[in-house]
Amino acid sequence: MLIISCNHVTGSLAPDNKPVAYCESGETIKFETRDCYDDRLMADGTLLDPQNTLSNPATGPLYVGGAHPGDILKVEIQEIALKSTGIMQALPGAGAFGEMLPREHVQEFTIADEGISFGESLKLPLRPMIGVIGTAPEESSISTHIPGNHGGNMDCTRVTQGSALYLPVNVPGALLSMGDLHAVMGDGEVLICGMETGGTVTVKVTVLNDVSLPVPCLVSDDIFCTIQSATDLDHASCDASKVMLRFIQERTGMDTASCGMLLSLAGNLIICQIVNPQKTVRMELSTEILQSLGVELP
Ligand code: CA
Ligand code: CA
Repeated sequence: MLIISCNHVTGSLAPDNKPVAYCESGETIKFETRDCYDDRLMADGTLLDPQNTLSNPATGPLYVGGAHPGDILKVEIQEIALKSTGIMQALPGAGAFGEMLPREHVQEFTIADEGISFGESLKLPLRPMIGVIGTAPEESSISTHIPGNHGGNMDCTRVTQGSALYLPVNVPGALLSMGDLHAVMGDGEVLICGMETGGTVTVKVTVLNDVSLPVPCLVSDDIFCTIQSATDLDHASCDASKVMLRFIQERTGMDTASCGMLLSLAGNLIICQIVNPQKTVRMELSTEILQSLGVELP
């Protein structure tokens, strides 16, 4: 299996990023990733070699042969393996509690199969997920801190083992990168971080031609989600709802009022994160409903 070392990291998803690895559609690849602090944040709060630290690094990009602009890249997440330690950083001025934090606070945790011990009596089960995963945007370079239609820093808890994420192909080869693993994170990521850690992610990448999907979107368990990011949650919420509505309308011909009724009854809006430069919301709908409507996913 092709393995992409975490020596190959980038701080942006960009059309002119030089590929660090090549594969063909249908191949399985393992990405080694650093944590969002570039593996340099120590338990005492000091940063090793701060001048050379890359913030929120993503491993890649991977060039997928046969991926052309207009195609869709299906990324099936087969396995996420985590390191044995995780770290969190509470930062004054950041996240929902920023003005309540007088100083930075860093804490390291042990990640074990049975979960993460939090204090004396709490054990939090692992829910490994990928915070940053995306393809290159068409023109500009986008920081790995920012989510968008190319994917990026979506911090969506459903980007996890067993899920299939669909991303746009904007440039030849798609240029897939990923990083920012979390051992566990609550929807919203209210402090500013999840249980930040490094590890490996094994994915199968498949190029889909002549397919129309509201990317970025994903299938996880029996749920289909559209994922949208915008300057605020109001806009991200409406966008995630509208792309779901238009997708169902395209496939079924359902009128707007009826489709709106369906989504108002059975679609669930979930906040992915409120802490990045753009906020991310997903709309979830059961795949059983899509199947009942005759909508098949590739
Ligand atoms: Ca993140
Ligand atoms: Ca993170």
